[in-house]
Amino acid sequence: MQVNQPSSYKNRTSIAVLGATGSIGSATLDVIRHLGSPWRAAALTAHSQIASLMQSARQMQPDLVAITDDCLVEGVDCSGLTDEVRLLRGAEGLVQIAQDPRIGTVVAAVVGSAGLPSTLAAAKAGKRLALANKEALVVAGELVMAAVRQHGGELIPVDSEHSAIFQALRAGSDKQVARIVLTASGGPFRNATQAEMNAATVQDALAHPTWQMGRKITIDSATMMNKALEIIEARWLFGIPSDKIQVVIHPQSIVHSMVEFTDGSVVAQLSPPDMRLPIQYALTYPDRLASPCPKMNFAQPWNLEFLPADPQRFPALTLGWEVANRGGSTGAVLNAANEAAVGLFLAGKIKFPAIVAGCRRILEEHNYSPSPELEELMRLDQWAREEIHKWAAAC
Ligand code: NDP
Ligand code: MG
Repeated sequence: MQVNQPSSYKNRTSIAVLGATGSIGSATLDVIRHLGSPWRAAALTAHSQIASLMQSARQMQPDLVAITDDCLVEGVDCSGLTDEVRLLRGAEGLVQIAQDPRIGTVVAAVVGSAGLPSTLAAAKAGKRLALANKEALVVAGELVMAAVRQHGGELIPVDSEHSAIFQALRAGSDKQVARIVLTASGGPFRNATQAEMNAATVQDALAHPTWQMGRKITIDSATMMNKALEIIEARWLFGIPSDKIQVVIHPQSIVHSMVEFTDGSVVAQLSPPDMRLPIQYALTYPDRLASPCPKMNFAQPWNLEFLPADPQRFPALTLGWEVANRGGSTGAVLNAANEAAVGLFLAGKIKFPAIVAGCRRILEEHNYSPSPELEELMRLDQWAREEIHKWAAAC
């Protein structure tokens, strides 16, 4: 029998949406509107899209609003906000929100390692962390998971593959898991030749066949670096070794991922591709409430295809397994190199295959550290970005 009311867990219906103006952020606001009271957007943040942020703030009247780009705070139009709404500024605003006692759930939907300090702060404050910001786990998975454990918080994945695995894992015990299988759409270049990938334009790479997402993750999907980051994310989230994480191409994006148990049973989660479903599940877990998402239509014929992933054509995958296996400083270096290389590609400064080639090069050049603290990770993040820029300039 399904429960129809949210279970009473601290003040978890009081939600902070970090990165409220993005693709995941706006889908989260949709879910909160759909769920209705007592669910509430209690804090909203944006980096550059101030008009959109303030429009949502007028509608939702949160307790806290943060603008992380300091330069954009002056002269912001606060009309239509009640006196109770407090405006915070700068990157520190994200951390303050993540720690605020009025907040029960933090939806971490900032893109890139810029989301790490607030993700870590939410974990240390013992919040429910609905985590979309996979880069935080790639950079500092060990630290984030330790903080969740030590401070009694919860981490519920929002990434659709990890939400599917999280759901499928409920079918058996940890000891009974044989492997997890991450599905990947294959992105816009699933069937492309090497020559076509060499000549790919920004527009080609942004044309994702099944998902509408922010620009950075869309380019990551085209290189399949997104799947590499997800291998690393899975390694930390589920504590599973890299050799038990498999990737399979599934062009329809209906099966969001699978778990194989020791007896050979494979348990999968299926639904039409819509991020509002894993977002809502992360908010309402362990309850399941009616959602605004489209449902599977079994009245029509449909096919599901599964094809082996090819690391020769998509070398980012090999980087994912290597980094998931080595851990230490490798995640921070790979992530920062990739963020910088994607930025250079989007700016028309490097070719498409150079994104992954650059990441490989910087990863090989860095001084490996087996258990770095946050400061060292942040230093390596900066170093890798600088190295990618030098490397691109010399190419
Ligand atoms: P978007 O680019 O659409 O949104 C990013 C959000 O982060 C925006 O609100 C943006 O603010 C904010 N932001 C950007 N830079 C900074 C910064 N330096 N400091 C603070 N905030 C910043 O990204 P997505 O929503 O697509 O992705 C968000 C995260 O979710 C990523 O980690 C991605 O990998 C993950 N994810 C996304 C999925 C998707 O379907 N989109 C699926 C699974 C995971 P502003 O717009 O105001 O500049
Ligand atoms: Mg995903």
